[in-house]
Amino acid sequence: MTRFVESTITFPYKRSLGPVTGAFMTALAEKRILGIRNGAAVLVPPMEWDPASGAELAADLVEVGPAGTVESWTWVPVPTEQHPLEKPFAFAFIRLDGASCPLLHAVDAGSPAAVFEGLRVAPRWRGRRVGHITDIQCFVPGETSEVDGPDVESTGQPVELMDYTASVTYSTPVLAMADRAVAATREQRLTGLRCPACERVYFGGDRPYCPVDAVELGPDAEIDLPSTGTLTNFIVVEPVRYPGQTATEPFARVFVLLDDSDVVLTYQPVIDLPVDEIRVGIRVTAGWAPIDAPVDNVSGIGRPLGSLLGWTPSGEPDVNDPDLVNRIY
Ligand SMILES: [Zn+2]
Repeated sequence: MTRFVESTITFPYKRSLGPVTGAFMTALAEKRILGIRNGAAVLVPPMEWDPASGAELAADLVEVGPAGTVESWTWVPVPTEQHPLEKPFAFAFIRLDGASCPLLHAVDAGSPAAVFEGLRVAPRWRGRRVGHITDIQCFVPGETSEVDGPDVESTGQPVELMDYTASVTYSTPVLAMADRAVAATREQRLTGLRCPACERVYFGGDRPYCPVDAVELGPDAEIDLPSTGTLTNFIVVEPVRYPGQTATEPFARVFVLLDDSDVVLTYQPVIDLPVDEIRVGIRVTAGWAPIDAPVDNVSGIGRPLGSLLGWTPSGEPDVNDPDLVNRIY
């Protein structure tokens, strides 16, 4: 059975809203909800195109609601951090008065027994609104809108951009040899694979074949690698502030050519090696977590490999070889 690891990349970006969605968001900051006329129908939220035909709609915006009627709903008994409310609530299709289609939003009704098709609801606005659909905190039973906390007047500025967080989750199969390479680090060993055809040696966690000879390299090709080497390349990362970035000071990732081999370990962390002292040619030795210490099982580019926490200067004289910088992989 192949094991998979799941990874998620999240990054922020700004999106321009355009004349229709921008007007909808601007109105939300003013506690108004806009739809757009599409023939005899009124679409909420407003769209720039007829969803049935794709025809462009004239920007004929019309105020709807704010109260409406629940058309269908589902109860969320255990909200997660992704949900709009921290307590149990209903997601509901709410047809706002004057609209031809329902709007999906949250209803804070206390219990599922209080929600039904035909329930009349009205918005609970946030006190401080920014021009976003979450300016409506949720809907509540009744005909009357409410405001959560002190009502802060909108600045009246048009809302033209919106902050988004894009998120991509993907799965990567973990090779059995990669698991063996990590397991070896728990014994403070690095393993490699020697090709029986060309005798080239590769790091044991990367690829199960020799790319020169197209020979599969299994457990019988495994050898121990030295845990000393020479720094051949490095990168200094100046952290910029983005969500999830925990580093605040510049930090380095280095490439290490292991002794008596052609193996270059890439993007390795360093230990006791200040950023401004890093240079090509430094002799380094592996820094290990103590045997039996619990280690992070998640490896990846720039992360420690099992118990191999990073590389630390050995104190030997630098290697002065102009070809070192060409040893990239
Ligand atoms: Zn080979």
